[in-house]
Amino acid sequence: MTQIKTRLIEPCQDAYSYPLLIKNLLETPLIYSPDQEIVYRNLRRYDYKTFGQRVKQLAAMLTRLGVKPGDTVAVMDWDSHRYLECFFAVPMMGAVLHTINIRLTPEQLIYTINHAEDDVILVNEEFLPLLSSVKDRFETVKQVVLLTDSAEMPQSDLTFAGEYEDLMADTAPEYDFPDFDENTMATTFYTTGTTGLPKGVFFSHRQIVLHTYGLMSGLCAYEAQASVNSSDIYMPMTPMFHVHAWGMPYLMTLLGTKQVYPGRYEPEMLLKLIVTEKVTYSHCVPTIINMLVSSPAISQLNLEGWKVIIGGSALPQGLCKAALEHGINLYSAYGMSETCPLLTVANIKPHLMEKSVDEQVEIRCKTGLPVPNVRLEIVDTKGTPVPHDGQTAGEVVVRSPWLTQGYVKDEAKSQELWANGWLHTGDIGVIDDEGYLKITDRLKDVIKTGGEWISSLELEDIISRHEAVTEVAVVGVADEKWGERPLAMVVLNDAFKDKVTEADIQDFCMGFVKSGQIPKYGVPSKIVLDAEIPKTSVGKISKKDIRAQYN
Ligand code: AMP
Repeated sequence: MTQIKTRLIEPCQDAYSYPLLIKNLLETPLIYSPDQEIVYRNLRRYDYKTFGQRVKQLAAMLTRLGVKPGDTVAVMDWDSHRYLECFFAVPMMGAVLHTINIRLTPEQLIYTINHAEDDVILVNEEFLPLLSSVKDRFETVKQVVLLTDSAEMPQSDLTFAGEYEDLMADTAPEYDFPDFDENTMATTFYTTGTTGLPKGVFFSHRQIVLHTYGLMSGLCAYEAQASVNSSDIYMPMTPMFHVHAWGMPYLMTLLGTKQVYPGRYEPEMLLKLIVTEKVTYSHCVPTIINMLVSSPAISQLNLEGWKVIIGGSALPQGLCKAALEHGINLYSAYGMSETCPLLTVANIKPHLMEKSVDEQVEIRCKTGLPVPNVRLEIVDTKGTPVPHDGQTAGEVVVRSPWLTQGYVKDEAKSQELWANGWLHTGDIGVIDDEGYLKITDRLKDVIKTGGEWISSLELEDIISRHEAVTEVAVVGVADEKWGERPLAMVVLNDAFKDKVTEADIQDFCMGFVKSGQIPKYGVPSKIVLDAEIPKTSVGKISKKDIRAQYN
């Protein structure tokens, strides 16, 4: 950064320099909404007053177990009230919260536990066999705390410091959360890239607080097709280990909304909670909403007014339309593990609200407009910004106060991420003249056929609009003549099984060739009907696995 001479503030000696700490997010809701509810499945409910006390009780309990500022406390749980307590208590003590991806392989799991230097692990009984399989390789773990919904102790060869509720019951809810530097590390977690070992990202108190306000401005402040406020009823459908459930639990707690935590994701339980608890706001990857929209139970439910943000992967237009037909107010947002995650939200600008439903679907499925305090550009291979004409594609690079400042203990990868002082997302996109970003591909997922680039996401979007299609994934597979050719894996709706053929899907794509939307060589040469599409540990389509299968 160039140094320029500026006039600096000279504070009064007694002035208090207010640090941006997670503990401050909890003050307002305890004043505004002390009686508001936090619900866990059909098993537990309590008010914010109790939540505030339990956060103190948890910090006191962890202190009793030996946790000190700077230590790392890891959690392996489904989405629960206990997890929410950890989101606050652990960083508020000055310790680091490590949210463990419970779908890692044993090798990845032990690597992340040792790499993050976990001191204590809180583990749901369902993951005991997984954790036990690596316990002999723990390097820093001193205590394991059991999380369970059952009254009985499960069988395990792990030694527990105790069960969470028992330990809480033995601890007085007294704890004075200290002030400290806002740049203190608050959270860490690992992203499983396409190659190599998982990479650790980390966020400070300052970053989490600013990200929470970023979410608030992007989701709550604009006149658009949807907005969120304190009267909403919130239920996450993104695992809390995946980028802090996109940071939403911090925002929803700050707003003092009613919060519903569904535990393990089971379609019937999710739908039941949405109806009985009157959920109005959720977020998830496309796979989860697809699962719900395809569930036979949905036709009997009234989901009118349920706002759902889709992120983590592109939202296909076919899925968006199907959800809108069920009354679900669906739209996209975009970000990644490295970005805390929020970068853009597909808010429809007021003057675009007059457009037809189909045109609005197109906007809802774009990746969106950058939220305040996100600077976002698309650049060519030399780093030069390309025009915002909705046509010219470039790599998305960003700056914002809440981006990870590197990867834990990995200087080379950190420098690659931050080349030229911009965080490189590895995503390819276009920006239109209204400022909407549309991700057209991951750098590594773009298909190059006969020397021309084809967007796999655009092909997926088109195929998703066929009435028989419930899910689709497109990848490039090696081809002697053309270098690569698109291959589509397509899952059909039950009613169309054995009725729709490979040629029908190709004909459908030809319609888009005729209208000039895609070139002829964009029509997939091979369509695989009704094979199961492989998914990643966070439920996204795993193109790496599809490529491995068909190349
Ligand atoms: P993760 O770090 O697992 O959250 O993955 C982040 C990646 O998911 C991004 O770099 C994008 O490639 C993809 N992604 C997230 N949100 C969207 C979206 N709305 N549209 C398209 N791709 C997305």
